[in-house]
Amino acid sequence: MTNKNRGILLVLSGPSGVGKGTVCNALRKMGTELVYSVSATTRTPREGEVHGVNYFFKSREEFSSMIESDDLLEYAEYCGNYYGTPREFVEDTLASGQDIILEIEVQGALKVKNKFPEGVFIFLLPPSLDELQSRIVTRGTETEDVIKSRMSIARDELRLIEHYDYAIVNDQVEAACHRIQAILTAERCRKERM
Ligand code: 5GP
Repeated sequence: MTNKNRGILLVLSGPSGVGKGTVCNALRKMGTELVYSVSATTRTPREGEVHGVNYFFKSREEFSSMIESDDLLEYAEYCGNYYGTPREFVEDTLASGQDIILEIEVQGALKVKNKFPEGVFIFLLPPSLDELQSRIVTRGTETEDVIKSRMSIARDELRLIEHYDYAIVNDQVEAACHRIQAILTAERCRKERM
């Protein structure tokens, strides 16, 4: 299969709390023609999260066996939990010609870039670090220690922005979605010339 017939791999990354999940949900509601990858994690579900929709919630043993069987395209440890992208679903989606979006943290995104350099890597930025902290606090799902740790990781993650193709400031969710849709349209046009 030529590259023209393969789907586009979009990776939406950026610090925790920047609104990646909210932006993905909004893209879905707007009817953006994309397949959404569901990650596996060892984190305990938050209230309202559904297995198979938000994440595949796994025990550490189950997650380790996914790693051993090479079932994950990438995985990373983040704040004491493991998160990873199931490989087969991504590969099958791309082979079927559909475009897929992965919503993952920065270390994992860089691993995907090694395997899929042709992917499109988007870094979602908070308007400011203060705003990022207040978003994590407002979410109310994290303890004070976890918030501190997520903020310190965020500072390190922001330094890796140069590895990305695009940066989008998430000042307003709808505006951020429109920019992602514009990128997708441009990338689809780029593929047309192949
Ligand atoms: P949360 O616990 O807030 O749901 O997610 C914590 C971080 O893990 C977020 O930055 C989220 O984007 C990231 N994440 C979610 N799924 C994956 C994944 O499959 N791989 C990697 N590397 N990060 C992920």
